[in-house]
Amino acid sequence: MPPRWDLLIRGGTLIDPAQGVSARRDVALRGGRVAAVAESLASADAGEVVDATGALVTPGLIDLHAHVYDGALPIGIHADRAALVNGVTTVVDAGSAGWMTFAGLRDYVIPTYRTRVYAFLHLSATGLATVRVVPELGDIRFAQVEEAARVIGENRDLILGVKVRIAHGGTGKGDQANAREALRRARRAADQAGVGLMVHVSDTPIPLPEILEQLRPGDIATHIFNGNAEQVLGSNGRVRPEVRAAAERGVVLDVGHASVHCDVKVAERALAEGLRPTTLSTDLHNPPPGRIVYHLRGLMSKFLALGLGLDEVVASVTSRPAAALGKSAELGSLAPGMAGDAVVLDLEEGQFAYIDGAGNTVRATRRFRARHVIRDGQRVATPAPAADHV
Ligand SMILES: [Zn+2]
Repeated sequence: MPPRWDLLIRGGTLIDPAQGVSARRDVALRGGRVAAVAESLASADAGEVVDATGALVTPGLIDLHAHVYDGALPIGIHADRAALVNGVTTVVDAGSAGWMTFAGLRDYVIPTYRTRVYAFLHLSATGLATVRVVPELGDIRFAQVEEAARVIGENRDLILGVKVRIAHGGTGKGDQANAREALRRARRAADQAGVGLMVHVSDTPIPLPEILEQLRPGDIATHIFNGNAEQVLGSNGRVRPEVRAAAERGVVLDVGHASVHCDVKVAERALAEGLRPTTLSTDLHNPPPGRIVYHLRGLMSKFLALGLGLDEVVASVTSRPAAALGKSAELGSLAPGMAGDAVVLDLEEGQFAYIDGAGNTVRATRRFRARHVIRDGQRVATPAPAADHV
């Protein structure tokens, strides 16, 4: 008789904010889905047993902001080698591709990954292909609403939103006109296609409130704790009222850490005033020499050290990004029937340091390490690397 379950994750503490569970649970998987969750399930019923003794078990992590168009962009990184082995079973490619270049991501890159990949299509026709050479919307002719909406319409299984960077490096230096027009066109493309909008808000040439005004519940402002001139804190050092209003109406405040898009002094001040990030994300990419990009588990460790609770940290990389993607019925929880994506995380004790592009250091006494990664009901064989960063 075949075993009742394909795989059993046994002996761990399940942290599953969507179910409100934070307790000792075994999780059984069958046919790529969660089959059972209980205080104790019998090993004899499983084809394979994954040992989670002394560890945390969470839904597979979801990184809402990454760049996995490996081979086509200078910043593109391999999803399986960088994200999956670190417990990230789902990544969102945040605008690496535009309507002209999306087919390559869809046909030649995503099919080679075991990592689940969704995309936000860049408003710029060629996405971020030119990113270290010229701003992708320095010439507004690259912002083609009809074409972007058409390609989204043709790829609804993969494309969940529109991405635009309202930044000097995205819409051009010394020219605010492109920033405003790019934002208008991005809004139109998202509305025309009936999808969400993700806006890069770091180093923006126009006031942050003008950007937030364009965002609706479920839309995403990424790089929310950047330390540039237009940031969440006003000149009085307090959280700006427009930022609070955006958070209150359901705009997703996403960290998008990267190396230069999160100033921990801004994050600490915002947290002290009760402004919490909705989601933690990495902006995972292949960085230029001298810059550090943390894995999602590294950012989880950093924000745990900054005072977020364990359940909140886990929610910000599981149930909340799943909700932002409209995938709560499938991803971000280990309730029976959900996708069989999970991670067994050790919370190691020691002395760890997390830096940012502004020169700040956060010291932590705990950090997350991926002991086992399970994707689609099967264990990923590759052992997790020790480093917290790319
Ligand atoms: Zn990015």
